[in-house]
Amino acid sequence: MNDTPNAILIRSGDLVDGTGAPRRKADVLLKGERIAAIAEPGAIATEDATVIDATGLTVSPGFIDVHTHDDNAVLVSPDMSAKLSQGVTTVVAGNCGISIAPGQLDNPPPPLTLIANADPGTFRFERLRDYAAAVEAAAPSINIAMLIGHSTLRIGAMDDIGKKANTAELDRMRERLAACLDDGAIGFSTGLYYKTNAAADMEEVVALAELLADKGGVYVTHMRDEHDHVLDSLHESFETANKADVPIVISHHKCAGPRNWGRSRETLPLIEATRAKQRVGLDAYPYAAGSTVLDPDWIDPEVRTLVSWSISYPEMSGRDLADIAAEWRCSQQDAARRLSPAGGIYFQMDEADVRRILAYPPTMIGSDGLPHDSHPHPRLWGTFPRVLGKFCREEGLFSLEDAVYKMTGLSASRFGLTDRGVVREGAYADLVLFDADEIIDRATFEEPTRPAHGIDRVFVNGKIGWQAGAHTGARSGRFVSR
Ligand code: ZN
Repeated sequence: MNDTPNAILIRSGDLVDGTGAPRRKADVLLKGERIAAIAEPGAIATEDATVIDATGLTVSPGFIDVHTHDDNAVLVSPDMSAKLSQGVTTVVAGNCGISIAPGQLDNPPPPLTLIANADPGTFRFERLRDYAAAVEAAAPSINIAMLIGHSTLRIGAMDDIGKKANTAELDRMRERLAACLDDGAIGFSTGLYYKTNAAADMEEVVALAELLADKGGVYVTHMRDEHDHVLDSLHESFETANKADVPIVISHHKCAGPRNWGRSRETLPLIEATRAKQRVGLDAYPYAAGSTVLDPDWIDPEVRTLVSWSISYPEMSGRDLADIAAEWRCSQQDAARRLSPAGGIYFQMDEADVRRILAYPPTMIGSDGLPHDSHPHPRLWGTFPRVLGKFCREEGLFSLEDAVYKMTGLSASRFGLTDRGVVREGAYADLVLFDADEIIDRATFEEPTRPAHGIDRVFVNGKIGWQAGAHTGARSGRFVSR
């Protein structure tokens, strides 16, 4: 055994450091889990270091996937290839009001099923620290930071989640959320769109979100409405964060449903005007289709819907709901009912809105990938290379420096991830080496689990986890707190 930290010298790469600064040629020296030095090419003595020639490659911070449902995935499939293969080194989980902790819940209803992998024992962690210990024991290949979800808190504390919480229930939720923040949670999330969360009014949300003001952390919301009432929901979200005096992130911002296509022309100016008054961030994924549970109430016959998983009819995964309904000689709603519990992919957005939202400088990138689906939305395997290949290189929506910033430095600062998301001396050695001329997603709606092309190497806490198109076996990720 050699106890001195291994040194790796990444030589002559094009450094895009995650701050938005212009790229420059540089050598980057790693020692153990940290970045030890950055200098002009040739200025660092190589001595004991293993040298990696990065000529022609871009060297950037590992990507931070700010919108995930990877709570359980890091435990049950710790190789995390879907993310590592894209250059992702840290994920933020617990989004949309759904988190794996706190509380021991038996067979919780949808949408908690999105992270349950059909395993009734998934929600077994009384405190976040119990989950953090399970993450350390599982040793995933990437880092994970956690938000605490309102639906999880409600199901654990309330007799009837169809109502607003009463005082005793609210006290119980506040106690649990405060304990999770002490255990390292980086924020609190709602999914007011979902039936498990929808009965909560602003007062209930503020009473929880305000705990972040003292303890630190960000309020993240899958809003009540991303369809006809998207502007009302933005106002509600901003007012909630303002009353609680906390920063807010609007999740997977979109204008959903054909009637609302084009309305990012209204939502982005509202977000921009509000940013002058309070701390507002947002994330988006680079596709015009969303994905969540398949709910008969959400079926819009005008919008194509794909089945991403089904417990009753697993063989229907990957098929169009309209085709299934035709075969069964029933409505799409009835087909969705028969398929449930199930997941759906909804082609509910306008490409022009997607581009406008992605191009908006404050927008961060989050995949919203669903890791347990049998036929997942391709965003699970493709998001980050798609932003760099399709939207940056091919369409010129933003510069490479800005694209990387949206995936790294901006994300780390919004979510309070210390020493990550930037390449600088002393920061963690989470890095990705990629070919900016080649990088592209290959996952499609037909073949959603094809790894991306153009990723050369991915370092997580100083260890190479992905190289030459394959997992190295290294599992150097950890539970990350503020
Ligand atoms: Zn969501």
